[in-house]
Amino acid sequence: MNSEDRALKNILQGKPVEKVAWVGYEGKKQKPGDQKSRLTDIMAEARMPWFCPKCDKVMKKKLDNKMWTLFGHCFDCQVDFEHDLRTTGKFEEWQSSKVLRNKKSIILEQIQSIENWQQQGDLKVVEPVNPESGAVHIETYEVDPATKKLAEQALIDLNNALQSINDTIEKFDGQRK
Ligand SMILES: [Zn+2]
Repeated sequence: MNSEDRALKNILQGKPVEKVAWVGYEGKKQKPGDQKSRLTDIMAEARMPWFCPKCDKVMKKKLDNKMWTLFGHCFDCQVDFEHDLRTTGKFEEWQSSKVLRNKKSIILEQIQSIENWQQQGDLKVVEPVNPESGAVHIETYEVDPATKKLAEQALIDLNNALQSINDTIEKFDGQRK
């Protein structure tokens, strides 16, 4: 996987992003077809899987989707996780830790990245034709509508995640007062 793919995958999985300008196509000679199908694969992969990676249960509830985007597992696993924290007396610590705030800034960055990519629009490939005269051949490839749709869906999921992380932070702050 190249750095562009990795960055996009991280973005969609909610992991920290390496500082890579994955949105920059200029100067690359990749076939747009390859580019598109890889983007599609990565975005599809980032959506909520059918089964929770932690407990293998089917994930289908709205709450599962929310927890998947926020914590990478299903709602039940999050309940267990918080229960364990309470049992070991570490819940307060986790609540007030920077985990959620870090997550929030990652989500904001993800939204920004996808919006940047959307604004960039269609892919232009510039090939020099005659280096002496400076003539170039410009080929424009439209972004695949399915990829656009995936990006839109990813944005909806991310905005929902942002909403619930704000709610969660607010709730936790209220509890600690
Ligand atoms: Zn689970």
